[in-house]
Amino acid sequence: MAEKLESVVKLMENIAPSYLAENWDNVGLQIGNAHKDIHRILVALEVTEAIIDEAISKNVDMIVCHHPLIFKPLKKIRIDDPIGNMVYRLIKNDITLFCAHTNLDIAHGGTNDVLAQILNIMDTKPLRVMNQEKYFKLVVYVPRTHVENVRDAICRAGAGHIGNYSHCTFQTEGKGTFKPLEGTNPFIGTKGEIEKVAECRLESIVPKEKLNGVIKKMVEVHPYEEVAYDLFTLKNDIHSYGLGRVGNLIKPIKLSAFCQEIKSKLAMNVIRIIGDTQKSIQRVGLCTGSGAEFIYDAYKLGCDCYITGDVKYHDAQYAASLGIAVIDAGHFETEHLVCRPLFEKLKELIMEKNYHMEVFLASNNMNPFQTI
Ligand SMILES: [Zn+2]
Repeated sequence: MAEKLESVVKLMENIAPSYLAENWDNVGLQIGNAHKDIHRILVALEVTEAIIDEAISKNVDMIVCHHPLIFKPLKKIRIDDPIGNMVYRLIKNDITLFCAHTNLDIAHGGTNDVLAQILNIMDTKPLRVMNQEKYFKLVVYVPRTHVENVRDAICRAGAGHIGNYSHCTFQTEGKGTFKPLEGTNPFIGTKGEIEKVAECRLESIVPKEKLNGVIKKMVEVHPYEEVAYDLFTLKNDIHSYGLGRVGNLIKPIKLSAFCQEIKSKLAMNVIRIIGDTQKSIQRVGLCTGSGAEFIYDAYKLGCDCYITGDVKYHDAQYAASLGIAVIDAGHFETEHLVCRPLFEKLKELIMEKNYHMEVFLASNNMNPFQTI
């Protein structure tokens, strides 16, 4: 059976949750119908005429890309306007368009993490925290006989995940007491008599967005008519989301050598830099795409060097006056690298779900700049 577009949207929500996108952004489904069957998907950096040609030749019915095609509200769709013509061609060829932009920059494993990984920048944290994930401590009292069932159910629903560990819980044994009153139908005990039961206090952490699902599952598998549980708000900084990354190189390297490494890894002929080429670099900030506005954030976080794209003249003057080295590694060069991991992740999730869909990696992503 064919799968609908909404199933792909759910997978993309897994990869780059839309709530992470900046307010000014325009992400998600841009063209198409949520109930349409999807068979073939093309992953690209952005929609261009060449990408639409490729989508048509590969007979895809959906494009997933990073840069939104529709950014400002369109007043008209005219084929003598570049954006209008692309919108027109996508609709005419029944190609759905889905974009994950700043949400993919911010998401774990998104554009910024991909660049940090390629450049071997370790122990990364967001350069500017935008969203701190809220966690709760869930404590539930369960008769000993049902602890394993309840533990398994809440953990499958999203409780007890810390880093790469699942089923993280703690349990203590004790005695629970209760007296079933009129109108009850108790699992254990007799109406009007105080009952003492061997119970476990089972505790675990739950991220806010999984809380309702976890409680629903817990109540479903718990044998009691009235489930006793407590919820505590946690202050732990377990997952924070934000733009850019800051981290460290394994060992210090001269700025000139670091630039050579970036040129080779990002396949660049030339690279523009601000700063002393003999400067020693170890702590590095980065923001893929257009991130000159975060130069000061990188400086404040003690970065020796900051990598981004689209650095303008006055940004460069500002960086020079702060004394932080800045590498303009290009908007395209810092971002197009996300396409392959995005393609692989989407393919993996589609296989896990057994959806009958094929995913293709675009071969026509093109940098509009060239150096001569
Ligand atoms: Zn971009």
